[in-house]
Amino acid sequence: METIHLKTVDPISQELLRSASRQGLDLPWERFEKLQPQDGFLRLGLSCPFGCLQGPCRIDPFGRGPAKGVCGLAREEMVAGLLLRLCLQGTMEALEAVPSGDRPRAIRYSRALGAMVSQALAKNDQHDLSLDDIFKSSMLLSRPSSTYWQLLAQALRLSLLTLGFQEQGALATTAPSLPCTAGYATLAGRAIRIGLCGEPSTRLVFELGKEVRRMTTTPAQLVALGSWLELDGRFLPIACTSGESELLVSSGAIHLLVAGAGTDPGLLSLCEKLKIPVVVNGQDGDAEEIVGRARKCFESRSQSDLFGDAPPVPECQVLLSASTIVPASGWDLTGKIGLIGGSDTPQLSLGKLPADLAQALSEKGLQLAGWGDAALWVLKKKSASDETALPFLALANRQGPLAAVTALAGVDKLESLQGICFTGMKSCLELSAALGLAAIGCRVSVATPLPIQGSREVLDALSRLLQQNGGQLRHSDHPADARELTEWFTNP
Ligand code: SF4
Repeated sequence: METIHLKTVDPISQELLRSASRQGLDLPWERFEKLQPQDGFLRLGLSCPFGCLQGPCRIDPFGRGPAKGVCGLAREEMVAGLLLRLCLQGTMEALEAVPSGDRPRAIRYSRALGAMVSQALAKNDQHDLSLDDIFKSSMLLSRPSSTYWQLLAQALRLSLLTLGFQEQGALATTAPSLPCTAGYATLAGRAIRIGLCGEPSTRLVFELGKEVRRMTTTPAQLVALGSWLELDGRFLPIACTSGESELLVSSGAIHLLVAGAGTDPGLLSLCEKLKIPVVVNGQDGDAEEIVGRARKCFESRSQSDLFGDAPPVPECQVLLSASTIVPASGWDLTGKIGLIGGSDTPQLSLGKLPADLAQALSEKGLQLAGWGDAALWVLKKKSASDETALPFLALANRQGPLAAVTALAGVDKLESLQGICFTGMKSCLELSAALGLAAIGCRVSVATPLPIQGSREVLDALSRLLQQNGGQLRHSDHPADARELTEWFTNP
């Protein structure tokens, strides 16, 4: 526990960690430690990603062991193939977020994004981006028969498709922004609490919202665990970031978990261990019955007000629409803008990098906005300090950076954007979107290592492909700190 600050910067989370340790609960940090060292071949991209049963083949990064796979596959194609495989997964995740009734037969872009995508394709002598690229990528990954240049070019094409799907999968609302509250203070007081994680069905969230409002004798509440879920013209209160979800559940403050698509299995195991009822995605059931199960759990527990002293986080407006970000932001478009976002990762102390980076960039005069867990951490920091000292705008999760980029491009002010930093990544969607943003000409950095370090040639080729359209994807073989990233933002 002496290294507790290396796990999270939040004092309440640190207290919850101590409590979980006393209960003998294994949380993501313990599992992460037990997994060290993680597979070095995969981390470098030197574990074969092709759909082939003659393997698994791995290439020795130090050149002392195997230099090729059984089929003769070389390290460059292995690394580029892994990037393509990850981007393909990311593209499918972005497509999944497009409402099924709107699933495209042909890709559609807004005018601003369409112009940027066309330019990105033209600069790399690419043409005719279409949904067929998904199938083509899948076939390219069946057996290795392409050069690493072809594999990289295909990964870039998928990343551009990803941006289009993200745009089409944006929250279906005409509101320019939605209010949101976040932090442990949302849990102050006694209430039956239903935690929602991942992406539960919109219908279930709506039905639960109606049922919870009917509760009069004992108050009941829906809270999101690291998810951004809309209900009745606002986001559900976000009790914690995604990385803190198990911690919060271990505190006993959640009386039923709705596990939407994307919920980590560790959270389900923890609920089972702590006898917290779970409703799994697709087995929704009746809202009244679900709330009844939560009530039963609530009544069987101690009902102390664990979070009564948590510092309140002021309500913020989350900017949603590319068409309204610029007027709503109040940005001085002759100044500099930076975007910070992404998911929690156990590779870094939760919250430290986003909060430190936002502070450092703000002191350098950058106007800041962010999305995802990183935005929640900056909002927490704002509440813990002088609120006016850290101007920061919240953007929609996932498509937030794209909406900001297209908004700036729409008013011909993209040059104000100094960079986009992903302070952590969890899903392939984040990787594919980061690559797509770099492909359309943005400076993008990723704070955690990407699994493509195993080939210098591939790294150089990818840089050259992105540079042709003025883009950049900065990453390195170690987790970056706020100082390195501040330098990167301020010295383009
Ligand atoms: S494609 Fe080649 S390198 Fe990959 S597993 Fe098959 S034989 Fe091995």
